[in-house]
This record gives sequence, structure tokens and C-alpha cells, in this order.
Amino acid sequence: MRVYNFSAGPSMLPLPVLERAAKEMTDYEGSGMSVMEMSHRSKVYQSIIDDAQARLRSVMNIPDDYEVLFMQGGASQQFACIPLNLLKTKASYAVTGHFSRKAYDEAKRFGEIHIASDNTDIGFARIPAQEELDVAEGSDYLHICFNNTVYGTKWPYIPAVSCPLVADLSSCILSEPIDVSKFDLIYAGAQKNMAPAGLTVVILKKSLIGSAREDTPTMLDYKTHAANGSMYNTPPTYQIYILKLVLEWIESIGGLEGMAKRNYEKAKILYDCLDASSFYIPRAEKGSRSIMNVTYRTPTPELDAKFVARSLELGFQNLKGYRAAGGIRASIYNAMPVEGVEALVDFMQRFERENA
Ligand code: PMP
Repeated sequence: MRVYNFSAGPSMLPLPVLERAAKEMTDYEGSGMSVMEMSHRSKVYQSIIDDAQARLRSVMNIPDDYEVLFMQGGASQQFACIPLNLLKTKASYAVTGHFSRKAYDEAKRFGEIHIASDNTDIGFARIPAQEELDVAEGSDYLHICFNNTVYGTKWPYIPAVSCPLVADLSSCILSEPIDVSKFDLIYAGAQKNMAPAGLTVVILKKSLIGSAREDTPTMLDYKTHAANGSMYNTPPTYQIYILKLVLEWIESIGGLEGMAKRNYEKAKILYDCLDASSFYIPRAEKGSRSIMNVTYRTPTPELDAKFVARSLELGFQNLKGYRAAGGIRASIYNAMPVEGVEALVDFMQRFERENA
């Protein structure tokens, strides 16, 4: 029996992907071995990584002047890679939540970092408008976190800036079409919409590669990975294989347009329930709402705890909000079926009637 898993990550993978992986577990396409057991230098593995890269390029419509890198170390390692590779004099960071603050704190170790926006005081409930952004003159880049996993907000627009734009898409990549050409570097940990944990995807303009600081460790220099087809060392082979299967699944349901249709439908069901209720209190303001992480609370922390306890009894997993944020968070990534959200809303309405 599979539960509805609302985890913020690692999170649900599409059932057809898991079933296909299970089928191919001990013998991948007649190779007589599992993808897990394969040399990354073998011909058969090379075709897997090439296929994953080609499908990602096609599904996301990545322009030819962008490199796609398969790295490790999580999105957190990119918090250091980005300044090491891109920072020359100064950079600007928009602090809109938990992980953008972490990225900012890490970047400060490497040079002059300017805060372009910080909405800590309003509990990260809203994304700043374009005219509220204060990007320092001469910034080497502006860093944003496009979807805030912890607080449940998403940038409703792509900022127009005169410096390169760097974005953490960990919790929204592949959830809807996005114009890659508006960004100079996109990065994402795989464990929400792409694959199991252990793979980090970096998509960056080729022109940004090759000017890392002198003392940049080899493994943190984008040039190392670009020059070696993401195989300077052993890549996360199985994760890349699962990414390939996930991309095939996305293609089968209409690409990112199809994905977006499903995701907006799911998010609407949940937000409509919150907006119709005088019991649940949504965290994110209307113009800044995430379609991946829906955050809210009940009237009291005691009722939040009761809600989570009851939800677990009914087979809804991981609805407890992030420890720093409290409340409730339903992460409804690509693999969450519409029925999962409908079942959650049904439970929420019952819980409200019994506890309001
Ligand atoms: N950025 C965002 C938006 C995230 O949601 C997360 C993890 N949940 C991270 C960065 C950190 O990722 P990792 O654990 O892969 O280092």
C-alpha cells in the first residue's frame, strides 16, 4: 500500500518510474547487470547519461549556449560553487527564505555580498516586487531562490537585471515551462522533481565557465565537469538513470506544459480549500504562492500538532511544517497525483468541522 507522501524532499517519485526501475533492477536492457553495478565508463552507461542530458535539454528547451552539468554535493554545495566560479568583486542576494539565506551566508565567506532584498520581518510571506529589488551597482550576479521550499513562496516573475541572474530551482524545476534563456545559471538538487538525492543539476551559460578563482578546488570548478562530460570522477550513476526515466514520464504526459496543467490544478484545489476556510491560515500571500509547497497553519500550535498526528493515522505522511517555520506544509511535487491532494482536502475539511 503506497501512502500519500507530502515530503518536501526527498519526495515521491512517479509510480511508473519506480516500477520500471524495479523491472530493470537486476538486468538493464540485457546487460546482465543493474545500472547500479555498471562502470560509468561503459558504452551502455554512456548512452544512459547522454540520453538523460538530451532529454533534459529537450524538455526544458535549454539553448545550445548553455552547459548542463551533473554534479554532487547537493544544492548546498552550489552555495559555495557559485561565488567561487562567478564572484569577482561583489554580488547581490535576495533573501526570501531559509535556503536563500544559507546561500547568502556561504557567499559572504568569499567576498562582498550585498542584500538585494530581505523580507525576514514579514515571515517570508511575499516575494519582493521588481522595483523593490536593490541590486548593487557592478554586481557580478544576482542570486535568487525561485521557489522557497520552507515558506511556500515562488517568484511570480523573473527579475530583469543588468547582471547575470543565478537561481536555485531545487523545489520547482520541471514543474512548469521556464524560459532558461532569462537565467545565466540554474541549479537544483534532484530529490524533489528529478531523481533520488545525490544528484545536483547545474545549467549555465558556457561563457561563465573557466574563470573560477585560482584557489577553487578542482571538484568545485565548473570547468572540471564541463570539460569531462560530468565524468571527471564517478558521477551519481543511478540518480542520472532515474532522471532519464522521470524525463520519459514527463514527456509521456505532455512535457512541461502537461506537468504545469496538473500542478496548477492540484495547487488550486488546495488553495481554494484554504481560501474558503476561516480555520486554516495560509502563510504565503496570494501573488507569491508556490505551486509545489503549500504552507498554512490552524488557529493554534496544539491544533497543528493534532492535525499532523491525525493525518499520519490516515496515511498522509510528512505534513509537519519545517521546524523553523512551524505549522503545516504540503509538498505537492510532480509525482503527487491529483487524488492525493483531493484526499488531503477531504481530510482537512473534516478536521475543520470537528475542531473549529
Ligand atoms: N535550496 C532549496 C530551495 C532547497 O529546498 C534545498 C533542500 N530542501 C536546498 C537548497 C538544499 O539542498 P541539498 O539538501 O540538496 O543541499
